Amino acid sequence: MTEGMTDLAIVGAGPGGYAAAFRAADLGLDVTLVDEAPHPGGVCLYHGCIPSKALLHVAQVIDQARHAEAWGVRFGSPTFDIPALQAWKAGVVERLTSGLGQLSRQRKVRYVKGCASIVDPHRLSVRGADSDQIIRFDHAILATGSSPAIPASLLLESDRVMDSTKALELSDVPARLLVVGGGYIGLELGTVYAALGSRVSIVEMTDGLLPGADRDLVTPVAKRMADLAEAIWTGTTVARLGVAGEGIVVDLEGKAAESSGQVFDRVLVAVGRRPNSKIAGLHNTRVQVDSSGFVQVDGQRRTAEPSIFAVGDLVGEPMLAHKASHEGRLAVEVIHGSKGVFEPLAIPAVVFTHPEIAWCGLTEMEAKVGGRAVKVVKFPWGASGRAATLDQVDGMTKLVVDCESEQVLGVGIVGAGAGELIAEGVLAVEMGATASDLTMTIHPHPTLSETLMESAEVFFGQSTHYLGKAR
Ligand code: NAD
Repeated sequence: MTEGMTDLAIVGAGPGGYAAAFRAADLGLDVTLVDEAPHPGGVCLYHGCIPSKALLHVAQVIDQARHAEAWGVRFGSPTFDIPALQAWKAGVVERLTSGLGQLSRQRKVRYVKGCASIVDPHRLSVRGADSDQIIRFDHAILATGSSPAIPASLLLESDRVMDSTKALELSDVPARLLVVGGGYIGLELGTVYAALGSRVSIVEMTDGLLPGADRDLVTPVAKRMADLAEAIWTGTTVARLGVAGEGIVVDLEGKAAESSGQVFDRVLVAVGRRPNSKIAGLHNTRVQVDSSGFVQVDGQRRTAEPSIFAVGDLVGEPMLAHKASHEGRLAVEVIHGSKGVFEPLAIPAVVFTHPEIAWCGLTEMEAKVGGRAVKVVKFPWGASGRAATLDQVDGMTKLVVDCESEQVLGVGIVGAGAGELIAEGVLAVEMGATASDLTMTIHPHPTLSETLMESAEVFFGQSTHYLGKAR
């Protein structure tokens, strides 16, 4: 067994781990990054954000081609070459992960392919394919991410029951797909499979899709999903899955219990994720794990073991790649001597459905629950010229503004490209911008970005294209 020394060892090369490794190398630290995958990237690049967005792009093209008839263009029904589609998606993943491998080498980050366990607060043991090694470190960052949670009622020995990783392989297009969970993954992958021709049914435990998200934003997506899906069963859970010949039979509990007994070709389980905190040897340190499995960290992302930091899905919600990267870079800067703290005013969330939903900062519901005096303004995209040209008039841009300071506290958007547009909202909230700052900023015409400016104009009852008022 070989033994080596490093300033910083990082376990897990997803968006938290690789962002930390690259920042540390840029700051002059000697860095060792450990992961079982051939290149950095983690779940986000190999089995999550990137492959799903590649497929959602295809779904969007199909959706637009279908709608084009209303604009005087007829494409006919699409035909699918699934191996070519898989190859295209795999090519995107390969391009990005090998690019990260190259960036890692250029920065002289030592990438060790293998499975790490913790020996003590200053040593890791890594089991590689060919050899094992001990890595001595001054500091370590744990960035092991999360995995799909599968409740006992949904455990079934059948390759027809898929988690998101399996569903992204797109090994076939099932005639009937049951999606369990109407959250981020259920809606995104449900959209993909429906576009490719599956008859999709969605079971959601709560009374509406995307629980927790603003209802004004969810409504247009729920309407579109209702058109796309064969059935949406809210207030319902799956009591039992069973094998029935070539399919999976489903027993439902709750509002849609009478729909039990239906047979599906495949089932996608997307009911949340759990932190990967069962790290071998963690008990050899003082690192604490809470009852939900999250590693406990302070504002600087330091665990109870002073040499060990933790970031990303492993330390808490929201389980989002961009939050993990931000935390990873912060932890490195703290290790390098900075006094930074993790206290963002806004972490953007984007659900890449058609249309997209994005929000950041304070929501209307949070303001209400917290008793905060705010005004809520809504700018319907029916009043946007750009939305009309895109045939996307069911969108909306919404601001939550502090009554006294007129500061923008939260932004929500539903509509085409909401995930791109929200960045202006995040900047506004982080910079403490007021509604006047948005109105006085000249936005390009005709673009959807004008809806942010005009929603701020609604706050003053002066929107050029809409006569609505703040409330
Ligand atoms: P989620 O928390 O977004 O949604 C899970 C849904 O399943 C919820 O609506 C919940 O009410 C429902 N549910 C739970 N138990 C159920 C049951 N037994 N039967 C029926 N419904 C049930 O979780 P997810 O979709 O699995 O995604 C996991 C996490 O991954 C997300 O929270 C998010 O942080 C991340 N993610 C982000 C993106 C993105 O940024 N676009 C995309 C995918 C995943």
